[in-house]
Formats: sequence, C-alpha cells, structure tokens
Amino acid sequence: MLSRPIVNSSIIHKHNSVLHESYIEKYSYDNDFQDVYASLRQGNQIEELDYHVHKNLLYHLGKLSIPQGERNIIIREAHTSLIAGHFSVGKIIANLQRYCYWPHMFDNVSRFIRGCYLCATSKPSNRKLGLYTPLLVLSRPWESISMDFVGGLPLSRKGHDYLYAVVDNFNKKCILTPFKRNL
Ligand SMILES: [Zn+2]
Repeated sequence: MLSRPIVNSSIIHKHNSVLHESYIEKYSYDNDFQDVYASLRQGNQIEELDYHVHKNLLYHLGKLSIPQGERNIIIREAHTSLIAGHFSVGKIIANLQRYCYWPHMFDNVSRFIRGCYLCATSKPSNRKLGLYTPLLVLSRPWESISMDFVGGLPLSRKGHDYLYAVVDNFNKKCILTPFKRNL
C-alpha cells in the first residue's frame, strides 16, 4: 500500500481554481512552454506527445505545467506552509510531482531550500548544508552525499513509482533513479 500524501493537497487546489487563468497568458512567453503550447493551440501534431492542452491549460503527462514566474510561489508554499513544516527536497518533489510539472524541478527546489534561512540556521540535520553555519567544508564533488527515497509517486509510463535520489552536497548535483516499489 502506498503511503498517504506527504502534504495536504491544498496547494494544488488553489492552483486549480483561482490561479489557473493567469497561466494561460504566461505560457505564451514562457521559455519552457511557449513553443509546445503555441503548437498545440494551433492544433498541430507535435512530436512531443507528453503534452496536451485542456481548457487552455498545458499538461505534461497529466500534470499541470507551471510557468516560470509561478514556480517559486509553489515551492515556497510546499516548503514553508504550516502543514509542510520545512520539508526536505525529496518530500517536496514527491508532493509537487503528483500535480505539477516543470523542467528542472529538482534544481529549483534544491536552490530554494539552500536559500531558506530557517533551514540553514535551525535544523541540525541541515546545518552542514547551510549557508550560515557550515560545519563541514567540502572541497570536491562527491566527497559527501545525501541519499533519499522518494515514494508513492504516480506510476510512470514504465511503471516506476519511486525515485532513488543521490545528491552531491558539494555542488548539489543530483542523480535520480526511478524504480518500482514491488520489484
Ligand atoms: Zn526551510
């Protein structure tokens, strides 16, 4: 049985109701989505079949595509809401990927959390990663890594529902390996 959702789904409910309409205009000048969006709106067949448009909104594999200017708002909410309680990168990604899509989500979330003052200063487990009180000085890549399992994701087309994430604490490079929970 899959674990229950990590974060209450209030985040996406807001985006489903109120903020949707603003996305429609933003897709038109979004570096990530403008081409595929314009092409789909014109009814063109495009090679990238992972996308579709529904009620003028762009979806990627069924997940709402988030324009660039909206991403930090969503990350902030997922990370710092009362329910979330400054969750880790892996937990935030797991939650967001249930509903949202944008390219390089992991990089964006990682960068956001590295810039979170509270996380950098108050969570003992994060202090070595923080900007303010570094306890461990890293001098080269892969000297220190963090590993996490991200689970309970919607099934991918290949049947994967978990990610094994390895993050290099030096430069925050990340390797994600999808796998099936029931091997
Ligand atoms: Zn934080």
